[in-house]
Amino acid sequence: MSKNNNQPCEDLQKLGEFGLIDHLTQNLKTVQPSTLKGVGDDAAVIAAPEKDEALLLTTDLLIEGIHFDLTYVPLRHLGYKAVIVNLSDIYAMNGTPRQITVSIAISNRFSLEAIEELYAGIRLACSRYGVDLVGGDTSSTHAGLYISITAVGTAPKKNIVYRNGAQENDLIFVSGDLGSAYIGLLLLEREKKVFEANPDMQPDFENVDYLLERQLKPEARRNIIELLKELNITPTSMIDVSDGLASELHHICKQSDKGCTIYEDKLPIDPTTYEQSVAFSIDPTTAAMNGGEDYELLFTINQKDYEKLKDHLEITPIGHITDAAAGLQLISKKGVVYPIQAQGWNHLAHKKV
Ligand code: ADP
Ligand code: MG
Repeated sequence: MSKNNNQPCEDLQKLGEFGLIDHLTQNLKTVQPSTLKGVGDDAAVIAAPEKDEALLLTTDLLIEGIHFDLTYVPLRHLGYKAVIVNLSDIYAMNGTPRQITVSIAISNRFSLEAIEELYAGIRLACSRYGVDLVGGDTSSTHAGLYISITAVGTAPKKNIVYRNGAQENDLIFVSGDLGSAYIGLLLLEREKKVFEANPDMQPDFENVDYLLERQLKPEARRNIIELLKELNITPTSMIDVSDGLASELHHICKQSDKGCTIYEDKLPIDPTTYEQSVAFSIDPTTAAMNGGEDYELLFTINQKDYEKLKDHLEITPIGHITDAAAGLQLISKKGVVYPIQAQGWNHLAHKKV
């Protein structure tokens, strides 16, 4: 990264905390009518929701070395993804995200340009999803980068979809495809190791753009929420797939006090993901069930709504809800029944650096 000596401010130390905040938040425009005051006072001011609405509030903390690795994650993508994971949680409640706050803690290893890149990604996600950046906090760390984003959303109370509403015989749908983000991560880690062993080696990323994009630049499924609204369908339960399908099914079944049956041959797996998974000697079904970070929506609907949904390419029926006693089971392509184990990401046990 280049430094321009004609601009003495291009240095974090000189800029200081207030200078940095001013720099990062300059020219912020707000688009949500409920944003009465954004950055610049002791608190942002948000108009209270309408009488029949509720506020949704969600937060995520991302820590360098635990949740991301800057060797292969561009800061712009990191900023974008950090916003997306929060918006995904709001959509998973069948809500609309309105505002976010961004708190960062940075070590002296970071340049102003690096933090600008992070904010370019944050701002891009905000503008694409029509969300206002209304505040945050800025601090320093002894080492590494920390980002915490909080999102505020709204939803009419009667439309909010919880994890606990699944009923026996409901159909289980998932949007998009599963496992790609995880295989994308494995590709990035493999090439990191190759590079560390021999810095002259160029990364081998031929034909895997989709997988890298799924890992580095996920989107939140606003379009699925809009589709359900258009079709006049309110799911009986919903969750976003952040830790992996198996883990999310466990959340829905546990909170709804139900079981489920999932069919292996119905799992939506992208052909490149399938191919690359096999190349890593990982069963593609395992990648789809346990990979995580797909940020797809997993939801259940009453059977009466099936006709309305069945022709939509971006959503796939993968099984149905059963009674709790039946447990969670996966029917393999050969018809063998396997119990579904919740694995998910365990950051304490599974260090991704
Ligand atoms: P306070 O001392 O009240 O915490 P700050 O000086 O930290 O205020 O922040 C001043 C304003 O800048 C506030 O509106 C705050 O929300 C906003 N802000 C601080 N850090 C960030 C950041 N990293 N991103 C966006 N807004 C920020
Ligand atoms: Mg502060």
